[in-house]
Amino acid sequence: MGSEVLRNYIGGQWVASATDTYLEVRNPALDAVIARVPLSTVEEVNRAVAAAREAFESWRRLPIPVRARYLLRLRDQVERRFEDLARTIVQEHGKTLEEARGEMQRTLENIEAAAGMFTALMGYHTPQVADGIDEECILEPVGVFCCIAPFNFPAMIPSWFFPYALVAGNTYIVKPSEICPITQTRIFELIHEVGFPPGVINMVHGGKEVVDALLTHPDVAGVSFVGSTPVAKYVYATAAAHGKRAQCHGGAKNALVVMPDADLERTVPAILSSAFGSAGQRCLAGSLVMAVGEIHKPLRRALVEGASRIRVGYGLDEGVQMGPVVSRKALERIHRYIELGVREEAELILDGRGIRVPGYPNGYFIGPTIFDEVQPKMTIACEEIFGPVLGVIRVRDLEEALEIINGLPYGNAASLFTRDGRAAREFRLRVRAGNVGINIGVAAPIAPYPFAGQKQSFFGDLHGQGMDTLYFFTDRKVVITRWF
Ligand code: NAD
Repeated sequence: MGSEVLRNYIGGQWVASATDTYLEVRNPALDAVIARVPLSTVEEVNRAVAAAREAFESWRRLPIPVRARYLLRLRDQVERRFEDLARTIVQEHGKTLEEARGEMQRTLENIEAAAGMFTALMGYHTPQVADGIDEECILEPVGVFCCIAPFNFPAMIPSWFFPYALVAGNTYIVKPSEICPITQTRIFELIHEVGFPPGVINMVHGGKEVVDALLTHPDVAGVSFVGSTPVAKYVYATAAAHGKRAQCHGGAKNALVVMPDADLERTVPAILSSAFGSAGQRCLAGSLVMAVGEIHKPLRRALVEGASRIRVGYGLDEGVQMGPVVSRKALERIHRYIELGVREEAELILDGRGIRVPGYPNGYFIGPTIFDEVQPKMTIACEEIFGPVLGVIRVRDLEEALEIINGLPYGNAASLFTRDGRAAREFRLRVRAGNVGINIGVAAPIAPYPFAGQKQSFFGDLHGQGMDTLYFFTDRKVVITRWF
């Protein structure tokens, strides 16, 4: 990969940024610089918005099947480069190749779902609402939209938004994460090969300055944000203050409740994969286990045994089950949370600090870490750690588990492991989380379903993916007709 200097994609052209500020992008397993990403300027954002604005009028007039066909061609290109893209994700993010392939699969599925949205864009019609009068609702594109993406799914998360925005007739600007900007750049190379009309889809690299320029630009109609809660709140408020629609997905603290009747043989692998998959850097990662009653003892033993066997290493190497975390800064933050957990007197039953991975002495590695005897008020039980750290809380019954979960500030996901249908029904009805798993450790909605966070995990009403996102990207216009 070398130390490539990344460029922006504006108006159908690759353009070097005029900035003099670049950030290094590092392979987290090697601690080696693999690219340099520009912190682009406000002027570059303005140019991208102008290009998107200019492209809008003719793009919205293209027949829907023609717009959908561009996406189908992109889908084919992405499939053709599937393996390269997955490897790029591993190189800039650190997750394993298997996990990166899973991410690419979800990316493809979103492009496919959007390309198939033809019927969903049909609107509706009622003849004879009054004598001689017909009424209809048509879905119209709005204008220029943008997304601001996090580091942890560099291919998938922009695909929750831009394919749907485009098929609905809008034009678009992607602002990738400055920590993992390479994969999205590769996807834009494919977008370029597909030959979308210039300006229909653009990419501007950068950080806060680029985000602020997008949020305050009068020609940007709306923003889709995914990232941490404080930034989600800021983006939501700033977009609203500038008259834009916004859907802002934030951070998480997800609980996995294990009932005494749970099938441990199947539950434990599901918990381990939820907590330690992608080294815990997923907004759907289970980071708290609530052990109900007597399941606590066997569960604790099985979790430690299972987690100790997870093979940590470079995601491109055969047999590796968990990669490094994304940056040295992230590693240090996770270490601080572990030290805090020890000070808060949770019981550290598996300590992943100080792990050595042969051949990769400088990687940002940390092994699976488990705390038992976590109390709901402890900081490690309330804050998002975003690393491979799992806390076990002992609870009396489902009632107490629900009380703790519903008291958490976040509401992204929650899961229940049980053989009892009544308990599952109760959980599904009462849990205040948007993505609910029953005997599923990572309740990740597929493309036609909304990515449905609640509370501080989501600001807005229409979520990413599915019909929600299509409504987000359209205005509903009502036409009432009478012919004399
Ligand atoms: P982040 O909030 O640091 O960054 C996200 C984006 O916001 C980046 O593009 C970044 O450039 C921009 N940004 C950062 N600080 C900003 C500021 N002060 N002003 C304006 N823009 C700013 O998040 P991250 O570390 O890249 O991603 C991890 C977070 O994302 C975790 O909290 C995770 O839970 C969350 N996440 C949530 C979901 C979800 O669906 N709810 C999905 C994936 C990740």
